[in-house]
Amino acid sequence: MSKPDPRKQNGHRRRQTRARILARDTHCALCGQWIDKTLTTIPGQHGPKCTGQTPNHQPCPGCIPHPHRAEVDEDIPVSRGGSPHSLDNCALMHRQCNQWKSNQTLAEAQQQLTTQNTQHTTATPQQTTTRINW
Ligand SMILES: [Zn+2]
Ligand SMILES: [Zn+2]
Repeated sequence: MSKPDPRKQNGHRRRQTRARILARDTHCALCGQWIDKTLTTIPGQHGPKCTGQTPNHQPCPGCIPHPHRAEVDEDIPVSRGGSPHSLDNCALMHRQCNQWKSNQTLAEAQQQLTTQNTQHTTATPQQTTTRINW
């Protein structure tokens, strides 16, 4: 008996997990703020490689990912043994929060946030500058 391609299967599972998390969560697991799931890219802002057109030859509306768009984050990062398919291990997060969290666990990231907040009262992931290097 031949096994199905695990990578294809994982891609399917990943999309399924993503869809479920998107349907389940409404707020960011890290900063607790509501996430606007309609956000995709920043309108009118383009990366240096943009030709001004989408691959279907439509005018490009903007191609830099919106820092507040919804992304699915693994509480325990995959690089540290977390499952990208477990609904318990995944949560919705702002892109910016997700990038800030990086490969910390959610608990570690929250701990660091608390520490930062006691040091500088204004520091939250919302206010950190997102540097985009395309
Ligand atoms: Zn957030
Ligand atoms: Zn563009």
